[in-house]
Amino acid sequence: MKLILLGPPGAGKGTQADYLQKKLGICKLSTGDMLRAAVASGSAIGLKAKDIMAKGQLVSDDIMITLIRERIDQSDCKPGFILDGFPRTLTQAEALDATLSVLGKHLDRVIELQVDDKKLIERITGRFSCAKCGAGYHDLFKQPKQAGICDQCGHTTFSRRDDDKAETVIKRLEAYHRQTAPLLPYYRQKSVLSSVDGMADIAEVTRQINRALELDKKIMENG
Ligand code: ADP
Ligand code: ADP
Ligand code: ZN
Repeated sequence: MKLILLGPPGAGKGTQADYLQKKLGICKLSTGDMLRAAVASGSAIGLKAKDIMAKGQLVSDDIMITLIRERIDQSDCKPGFILDGFPRTLTQAEALDATLSVLGKHLDRVIELQVDDKKLIERITGRFSCAKCGAGYHDLFKQPKQAGICDQCGHTTFSRRDDDKAETVIKRLEAYHRQTAPLLPYYRQKSVLSSVDGMADIAEVTRQINRALELDKKIMENG
């Protein structure tokens, strides 16, 4: 299964990608996580991406396309992958199509998480994650089961992203509407787009995604 999770910052892509990764046993490629790791390691890509990310702008298509091409071809992605945060421009989407077609693969589904801008600000400003394993949480909507202890790994320190402050979030939302939203008609035209109500609670969004993917399975089984 080859999936894309598409939606504005804070829509719930990472949260649902984690769930799908566990359920489907396929790899999750989160370009935001990959870039943050590159920044932390001080690699050449990290040095180029750091200031752009801090300003809430998009990193260049060339860098992103190279990053994804290298990953998709690795053995853990052979059974399939979930893309979280890529593609974010039409150029990236076209490059992905070209890469997949060379590998003799195609996208199974693109899932759009629809969330109003006002809700996104609330989601992003309350977001934090485990400093050790990266598991995602929210001050109001997804607290660890035991306060101060990560559900996944038991670690007790958490972190917040520098670009999750309100003024940068507004820049990121602008970038989404201007550069990423045009991907919706692009994938709709290819008949691979399913839109789900990302305003619903986490479990309900998961149910809606499952329904969209079940439908695909049935269509494939029935030819
Ligand atoms: P994205 O990867 O699209 O930026 P995240 O998955 O990181 O979004 O979600 C943003 C924040 O909102 C996180 O703190 C997450 O715990 C929380 N969240 C995700 N989905 C929902 C939802 N359906 N309802 C409420 N909060 C959510
Ligand atoms: P969110 O989860 O809030 O949608 P991400 O973690 O996916 O944010 O991305 C964080 C930042 O990394 C973006 O604001 C952008 O600067 C950069 N980035 C991530 N993916 C891409 C991409 N596909 N193209 C360009 N820039 C990207
Ligand atoms: Zn953890």
